Amino acid sequence: MKTISLLGGMSWESTTTYYELINEVIKEQLGGFHSARCILFSVDFDEIEICQSQGKWEECGEILLEAAKSLENAGADFILICTNTMHKVVKQIQAGIHIPILHIADATADELINNHIKKIALLGTKYTMTQDFYKSKLVERGIEVMIPEYCEIERINDIIFNELCMGNVTKESKQEVLHIMDSLSKKGAEGVILGCTELGLLIKQADTDVRVFDTTLIHATKGALYAIETK
Ligand code: GLU
Repeated sequence: MKTISLLGGMSWESTTTYYELINEVIKEQLGGFHSARCILFSVDFDEIEICQSQGKWEECGEILLEAAKSLENAGADFILICTNTMHKVVKQIQAGIHIPILHIADATADELINNHIKKIALLGTKYTMTQDFYKSKLVERGIEVMIPEYCEIERINDIIFNELCMGNVTKESKQEVLHIMDSLSKKGAEGVILGCTELGLLIKQADTDVRVFDTTLIHATKGALYAIETK
């Protein structure tokens, strides 16, 4: 089995979900007492969030590159960066290490293509929804990407940073996000990407008829299956 490494803590609320999901997949696949060979580097999210909000992306990249080097030196075979947003600096991180990073948007694009989705709505941080680094990965694969209205983008971003990253899951925010998902579906989206690793804490497939693509679930599952792939 390959050793999975998690570059997490962004926020730690969602990194715990990665750890659980990865072990669930390994258990389901291998049975018995099997569990994932796994290393975690959990950063201090405060430092990252400050750099993000000041637009200091290269500095974010430097912090994450140092963490990735530690994972490589600790014996990791590959890395999962447990946040959609920080894939903005994935090239900077990958350039400084020798082990592969499994990109969260590639895993998501694979899942959409397997489900024959051509037009999808993307929810995430304002960085993920409005900038190009994530959407372009889907567009390159022939998938059309829709995002919410400006005021909804602000509201979702606020829910992510001021509620979910703080471990605060409320019914009111859940209803608001479900409402936004419904309106995107009515405008033609064939499903919605939960393109922030905390959104799955708020929204489950059972809450809605709109098809949900939870990036935490997709990415963690892909990582676990890759770890036990024999080819
Ligand atoms: N976990 C989040 C994401 O998937 C947001 C936190 C961050 O900005 O890294 O984008």
